[in-house]
Amino acid sequence: ITSAEQEVLDEIEANDIDFLRLQFTDILGTVKNVSVPARQAEKAFTEGIYFDGSSIEGFVRIQESDMRLTPDPETFAILPWRDRDEGASARLICDVVNTSTGKPFEGDPRYVLKRALDRAEEMGYTVNAAPEPEFFLFEEDEVGRATTTTNDAGGYFDLAPKDLASDVRRDIIYGLESMGFEVEASHHEVAEGQHEINFEYDDALTTADNVATFRTVVRAIAAQHDYHATFMPKPIPKINGSGMHTHLSLFTEDGENAFHDGDDEFDLSDEARAFTAGILEHAPAITAVANPTVNSYKRLVPGYEAPVYVAWSDRNRSSLIRKPAARVPAASRVELRSPDPSCNPYLAIATMIHAGLNGIEQDLECPDPVRENIYEFDEETREEYGITTLPSNLGEAVDALEADEAIVDALGEHVSSKFVDAKRQEFEEYLVDVSQWELDRYLETF
Ligand code: GLU
Ligand code: MG
Ligand code: MG
Repeated sequence: ITSAEQEVLDEIEANDIDFLRLQFTDILGTVKNVSVPARQAEKAFTEGIYFDGSSIEGFVRIQESDMRLTPDPETFAILPWRDRDEGASARLICDVVNTSTGKPFEGDPRYVLKRALDRAEEMGYTVNAAPEPEFFLFEEDEVGRATTTTNDAGGYFDLAPKDLASDVRRDIIYGLESMGFEVEASHHEVAEGQHEINFEYDDALTTADNVATFRTVVRAIAAQHDYHATFMPKPIPKINGSGMHTHLSLFTEDGENAFHDGDDEFDLSDEARAFTAGILEHAPAITAVANPTVNSYKRLVPGYEAPVYVAWSDRNRSSLIRKPAARVPAASRVELRSPDPSCNPYLAIATMIHAGLNGIEQDLECPDPVRENIYEFDEETREEYGITTLPSNLGEAVDALEADEAIVDALGEHVSSKFVDAKRQEFEEYLVDVSQWELDRYLETF
């Protein structure tokens, strides 16, 4: 037992924890749980908890049936809500080990991200990341199913006072803070019923863990208020969708921000530029991972503050990458604006890191920033500037992923093939469906 593990055992004792939820995520980013009585904690640390991987639900299954979960003691957190008829619960995020080889399971998204971080470390960097997840709060109907009635549009019953949304948000923030999050800001977003909660940047692994936790906490606490929180990227047409902008920077071993150069016009170092160039080069393939649902592409259209064009800028929000103004050198970073909160954060961040590191390794040249509103460019102007577009649907994105060896390698053979299969099937199901739009448009016309 390590000292970090002993600390967890003490916390369990001190807080009267009855149950431990051992968590991991599947390839599609869904959080999975195995609940064990808290007295198993020591055994979980020393021997791991065995489970039958093939009985894990979800479209992409962990194939090999015998898997072992190894809890990461750094991820211990008490859950801020209680299950009915249960005592207090805590969670630990786990690494998944393949019992037949004793090695990390290649299908574990956390392992995919750890590989990216190992590569960064070999190049002399640690990676910091900060996400900006947006989400909608919707009312539930009489039987508790989600509607698309926004919680602050008034409407329907109109009983809820207008500030109810801020009550829910406040409880969410209390919950997050009790789990160790440092919430930076929370605000109502552009669209009705849309919210954003930003938390402090952290190392990339902690940030990915945090995103997985965040979605669970937001949904659970919203449900306590009889709201449905959704991270679906574009639940309502013709208004803004929900993004999860992701800020990235590299730090050197002596704690300096490798992305900062005070002498540069935009405070960006050569590394930051090459990293940016790498992301731009691999943007189509990254999109499959960062925007992994059919619905993601309803968000990536012009006019709603979501990116469509592969370009970077120090100011405008129509570009894929933005260099936000930094108050202090440590805050120099690049912001990728395409990811949405339906993505698997481990895989999405891993692909961004690999793409950026490729840029550095190959010393890729970064194009000039585009400071105009690209939404307003015509095709000719875009061509003149050499601006390409992101894939326009999931099918194209998956094609781009398959064609991009670097991003396939970033995911590893196991994850990339399972991911591509699942996403192709999802896209094909969508293609053969007949939507409400079609019925409205054609049923009576023809
Ligand atoms: N909701 C916008 C999106 O889809 C982003 C708005 C913002 O700049 O925060 O990415
Ligand atoms: Mg926002
Ligand atoms: Mg942003």
